[in-house]
Amino acid sequence: MTNNRLRIAVQKSGRLSKESHLLLRRCGLKFNVDERRLITRVDNLPIDILQVRDDDIPGLVMDGVVDLGIVGENVLEEVELERQAANKACQYQKLKPLDFGRCKLSIALPEEFDYQGLASLQNKRIATTYPYLLKRYLQERDIEFQECLLKGSVEVAPRAGLADGICDLVSTGATLEANGLVETQVIFESQSAIVQSAVTQSDEKQALIDKLMSRINGVIKARE
Ligand code: ATP
Ligand code: ZN
Repeated sequence: MTNNRLRIAVQKSGRLSKESHLLLRRCGLKFNVDERRLITRVDNLPIDILQVRDDDIPGLVMDGVVDLGIVGENVLEEVELERQAANKACQYQKLKPLDFGRCKLSIALPEEFDYQGLASLQNKRIATTYPYLLKRYLQERDIEFQECLLKGSVEVAPRAGLADGICDLVSTGATLEANGLVETQVIFESQSAIVQSAVTQSDEKQALIDKLMSRINGVIKARE
């Protein structure tokens, strides 16, 4: 399977999509996105844009299926830890953090929880979509916890009696409040980043990546 066009994976539809497209357009890439299609061809450069779920982006980069990816560091590090644990390829190169998609992963507890610091979490059950980031954080602090893995509706788990607390992405705190939860500990601060596969590139592709990165640096500098 040979492919001479550079492949960049971006989130198909979600919080990172618009900014990812905008950044690529500001770098001079010309394309029309059709959300129903997996691949969008860039008209004026040998680049294909792959539109996928954000969760798939780190694996596609680490497996060398795509050359570049734009994804949140939260998802990137979670997948890296997960793949490390499974002995799967988990190499990549972070080319640059990008100035969008900022959010934090936090532990939040019910208002009535008597929280006296991290030790209060000992052996508690915590609902999360990010079990590896949570485990890394708590293990480094000698806290054991019980896992409740949920890909959605994390914030309702305590009220539903499934967990004692949660570890989830927080931006405004409105969702937490609506569910009677209080943010108690930030465990990871995230923004989006552009990452490159560790698979060795042809000289042509690497030259194109270098050109794209110099444009991205220019776009980011101009905004500062
Ligand atoms: P997908 O269907 O692609 O799996 P998703 O529902 O997992 O989408 P989104 O809610 O679109 O994902 O969030 C994508 C990423 O945006 C998150 O992983 C995080 O990096 C970042 N993000 C999350 N919340 C915010 C926020 N409030 N503001 C900005 N960026 C955020
Ligand atoms: Zn996702």
